Amino acid sequence: MIGIFGGTFNPIHLGHLHAAEEVLGRLGLGRMIFIPSARPPHKIDTNENIAPAADRLSWVRLAVEGHSHFHVDPIEIERPGPSYLVDTLTRFVEEHPPENLVFIVGQDAFSEMGDWKSPEKLFAMMNFAVITRDPEMSGHLARWMPAGARGDFSVSEDGFSAEHRKSHHWIRQVPIAPLDISSTRIRKRVREGTSIKGWVPECVRLAIETSEAYRTQPEKNTSPPR
Ligand code: ATP
Ligand code: MG
Repeated sequence: MIGIFGGTFNPIHLGHLHAAEEVLGRLGLGRMIFIPSARPPHKIDTNENIAPAADRLSWVRLAVEGHSHFHVDPIEIERPGPSYLVDTLTRFVEEHPPENLVFIVGQDAFSEMGDWKSPEKLFAMMNFAVITRDPEMSGHLARWMPAGARGDFSVSEDGFSAEHRKSHHWIRQVPIAPLDISSTRIRKRVREGTSIKGWVPECVRLAIETSEAYRTQPEKNTSPPR
């Protein structure tokens, strides 16, 4: 089975890599494909300082070097226009039996997926593994499954998994012992000149520190030219 791990990866960090390893082991995946998104449609209007797609992609490449089960697919970055997950996954199901594919997503992103493009279609396409990081926040799937998907799935009694009524693909919770790291906090540290040693792989730290990334405030926060 192949895992597909999508994200903004702005930048990729040890929390992502640690989660990917745990999920790979727990689900017995043959490999994990990281897919950095180009222009995340849900983050486009925010104040967030998004590093150029080419940089984020090259950091993901550096981060997975040496992990024989980890791969990178630049599909979203190479495709022109907005990057919608449903379009990306369509390409994967054209090339692989969908029952052999599982999309990996954190609980925070998963619970917002009802607002993404074509959620009903998305959830019918393949299996989903939802990384849960906090037992207090997770519990029964029915409590936080996106509303648009709820009607299409039957949730197991223990609330740990659900099965799509038509495609029979599954959604499964994968609880992990998380590393308390986020890209937001890494960007803040770089902006403030604090070291990010121990937050990202060393090769990624060097690449970020020798680039211009995250050094300045997002544009909207600076004074306009007079
Ligand atoms: P940001 O702080 O900018 O939101 P992030 O650290 O959450 O960034 P994303 O690129 O948004 O990183 O996350 C990609 C995926 O990885 C999402 O599904 C998210 O839930 C998951 N994820 C992020 N951080 C961790 C972590 N420390 N442990 C496990 N999963 C994580
Ligand atoms: Mg996030």
